[in-house]
Amino acid sequence: MSQRDWIEKDFYRELGVSSEATADEIKKSYRKLARELHPDANPGDAKAEARFKAVSEAYGVLSDPAKRKQYDEARRLFAGGGGFPGSGGFGSGGFDVNDLFGRAAQGTGGGGLGDLLGGLFNRRGGASPGSATRPRRGEDVETDVRIDFTEAVQGATVPLRLSSPAACTTCNGSGAKPGTTPHTCATCSGSGLVTRSQGAFAFSEPCRDCRGTGKIIDDPCPECGGDGVSTRTRTLTVRIPSGVDDGQRIRLAGQGEPGRNGGPNGDLFVRVHVNPHSVFGRQGNDLTLTAPMTFPELALGTTLTVPTLDGKVTLKVPAGTSSGRVLRARGKGITKRDGTAGDLLITLEVAVPNNLSSEARKALQAYADVTTDHDPRGDLNALLEGR
Ligand SMILES: [Zn+2]
Ligand SMILES: [Zn+2]
Repeated sequence: MSQRDWIEKDFYRELGVSSEATADEIKKSYRKLARELHPDANPGDAKAEARFKAVSEAYGVLSDPAKRKQYDEARRLFAGGGGFPGSGGFGSGGFDVNDLFGRAAQGTGGGGLGDLLGGLFNRRGGASPGSATRPRRGEDVETDVRIDFTEAVQGATVPLRLSSPAACTTCNGSGAKPGTTPHTCATCSGSGLVTRSQGAFAFSEPCRDCRGTGKIIDDPCPECGGDGVSTRTRTLTVRIPSGVDDGQRIRLAGQGEPGRNGGPNGDLFVRVHVNPHSVFGRQGNDLTLTAPMTFPELALGTTLTVPTLDGKVTLKVPAGTSSGRVLRARGKGITKRDGTAGDLLITLEVAVPNNLSSEARKALQAYADVTTDHDPRGDLNALLEGR
């Protein structure tokens, strides 16, 4: 097997042991898994068979001190190179059996140990012996924020209230009423697993009395009801960069759930929703604006003053400007963080009055009478006459 193949696989994870596990621990874990996953014990179960093969392969490497050393070195080198795409676990402080159970319980696990154990394990931190002290990365958190158009363009600082599950502060996540201690489950002697015999084989399955945790809580914590998890609310101030677009996601590294046992924090992802503006629109980095004009303004020319997001701008409208023409005010659009700025695009549109005073009507009629030689539909009429 190539080194590349090696580092793509987490053999410690396959065997459910830590990377510091002794040869004895590895052997013990392998024997237990091999017994559970043996094809003879799981007839027709392709998942179990695949796991059996993976576990055997992992044991083949980790049981050989020379191979294990090589494997560890390959992994270390790779972890030093900045993590491994698509593979959680490397470089993030090792394997935590609770991760596997957690994923399986959420329905996103790809056939991990949790599936095999029937999803009976809950996600209580530290439920599995030996895992409680391992560093573990905090969960990523996603949230939404709604801001105004102007805030999106100019950047804003917004307070965010986040509610997320966290270890109960009353019982420190143990689920037991403060002052009491959970006692070791007598059924499974604290291992969380019970062994059942069927024919020549012995199976391990999660203990039903303690739900696989190995512990029985006599006095549940009044705050969390024994779950060890409660909802925590925290307020964060988030800086939204200028130029953010509707629907954009901002990543705030390390602002997610806190890591456990010295593990790194998760990230916070904020999805930004932008309220539309009553006047301005947006095309990429350009702002758009429609300016209603009178016919004389376009025909005779004028100077036009329009608002910008932070002031105003005055532009010259030349005589004989068509309705629908777009004027560009350079640099009056959206300024990105890198300093580049878009433009303000002003669409000129003739506004026709609904009602005319008799004086205005007379003046317009006089105008029409002296411009009969101007035919704006010359091309169309030529086409009509050809028919
Ligand atoms: Zn038990
Ligand atoms: Zn509690």
